[in-house]
Amino acid sequence: MPLRQPESVEECVYYTRRNVDKGHVTCWVFREKCPKCGKAMMGKPRDAKTRKVKIRAKEYICLECNHTVPKEQYEDTLTASISYTCPKCANKGETQIPFKRKSFEGVKALVFPCQKCSQKISITKKMKAIGEPDEEELPNA
Ligand SMILES: [Zn+2]
Ligand SMILES: [Zn+2]
Repeated sequence: MPLRQPESVEECVYYTRRNVDKGHVTCWVFREKCPKCGKAMMGKPRDAKTRKVKIRAKEYICLECNHTVPKEQYEDTLTASISYTCPKCANKGETQIPFKRKSFEGVKALVFPCQKCSQKISITKKMKAIGEPDEEELPNA
């Protein structure tokens, strides 16, 4: 069964498309409901004055019950959906892995094997200058 694609990035806490050598990877992570009350999606807290989402917040909060979970702890429970073209064998595939970054060749990355040739494909955090907004951290996440 094909993976469900997000209809808009607002459904996701993470979305990236990128080239990996000769291959290509699209990875997305759907937001999930509050594990405590199950009524609302978990999201980053908003600034009380500007109503803007605090992109750099270190936690996720439920707008219904205020249940708060540290960012890493919450993200570890999510599932990353991946659609890829393997850089080694050109196999096109889809897979799902836990949204947990591991150390891979010295950098934090999501790593998954090609289902055909087992080549490890990594999705590293994009490097950025300090103070620059993180493009992958969606404003509404
Ligand atoms: Zn809740
Ligand atoms: Zn492959």
